[in-house]
Amino acid sequence: MRRVTVFGATGSIGGNTLDLIARAPDEYHVVALTGGRNIDRLAALARAHRAELAVTGHPELLDDLRGALAGSGVEAAAGEAALLDAAARPADWTMSAIVGIAGLAPGLKALEQGGTLALANKESLVAAGPLLLETARRHGATILPVDSEHSAVFQALVGEDIEAVERVIITASGGAFRDLDARDLARVTPEQASSHPNWDMGQRITIDSASLFNKALELIETHEFFGIAPERIEAIVHPESLIHALVGFNDGALMAHLGPPDMRHAIGYALHWPERRHLPVERLDFAAIGAMTFRAPDEAKYPALRIAREVMKAGGHAGAVMNGAKERALDAFIARECSFLEMAELVDRTLDKLTAESLGKDTMTLDSVQHADRRARQVVEDALDLTA
Ligand code: NDP
Ligand code: MG
Repeated sequence: MRRVTVFGATGSIGGNTLDLIARAPDEYHVVALTGGRNIDRLAALARAHRAELAVTGHPELLDDLRGALAGSGVEAAAGEAALLDAAARPADWTMSAIVGIAGLAPGLKALEQGGTLALANKESLVAAGPLLLETARRHGATILPVDSEHSAVFQALVGEDIEAVERVIITASGGAFRDLDARDLARVTPEQASSHPNWDMGQRITIDSASLFNKALELIETHEFFGIAPERIEAIVHPESLIHALVGFNDGALMAHLGPPDMRHAIGYALHWPERRHLPVERLDFAAIGAMTFRAPDEAKYPALRIAREVMKAGGHAGAVMNGAKERALDAFIARECSFLEMAELVDRTLDKLTAESLGKDTMTLDSVQHADRRARQVVEDALDLTA
């Protein structure tokens, strides 16, 4: 039996992961499932999968979780330290699908076991790519990408020489507002931004898709994970979301990865790697699809991609600053404390301020990344107070 742990089990990626695991119950033993505020769902999943342990990230919800698990035989725990304990419990395969920087510390702890970390939590790579890769290397652990574009690049690179890669192109659906002009963008609401044309995902990544911050994070993720130079990484708007990424080689060939917009493909690939197994995803019908379209992203409308390139150029802790500022600005947008377009302004200003303080020249540790994250959030908060 393979021992599996799922961080962020109550979320969109966590649910898809457990859907695949439930199809082969004889093959998996579920060690730990973790969640946040959705205690009923966490308890129901832990019971259904006979997990050893269920953990909520929120200590004040421990009694609720204990109550919901009464008589089930599943252990309950809560808080950040409990998440780390869950990551330290022996497992062969761990899904990192907490949303946000809270996923970093458990991901690092899981890598120390030397097993496989399926990484959906892109914030970890953006904020702490070198730290994550170095931790994996030191402990002989494997990181497999779960973000659909990065799973696509990973698959296109199997058997290839990375030195022969000339460029990597990741696709963007364009998000909820791809057909709006800049004037209308200033007035969009969090509700409008929370509906994605093609993918069914958590609210935060859905809004990030509308602002192209998701694609911006993914450019950095590509750079960090595959070690591709920033100028060789492109993003292109592809509204049908059928091609997830293309890898261009030095002989002019491009390998494209296509599939339906269903995260169970990328999750399943990471679950079964290095094998391929049957997965319950739709099969594409090209005659019915007819055409696929592409266009350049409108960078005047969406500054996020430019910001990502500046962050890659700056290196150090710029990724942690950008991610922390973006997360805090997103909270503010959801709480109606700033407008949709102000999110990018806040991130830009925070990077300007903290780069001037030369935050980020030190060696990268979990502490230094968390410090940069906190500083970035504080700068955004101060800016919000000034405009309030
Ligand atoms: P969801 O919002 O659906 O789920 C997030 C999960 O994280 C939930 O289980 C939530 O718990 C948990 N969580 C949130 N905050 C904390 C915290 N402080 N401590 C512990 N747990 C916490 O997000 P998604 O599943 O959409 O995304 C998860 C990750 O995967 C993100 O990093 C995202 O960028 C990435 N990703 C997602 C894709 C998708 O298709 N959804 C595609 C590619 C990448 P609860 O709900 O119980 O509060
Ligand atoms: Mg993606």
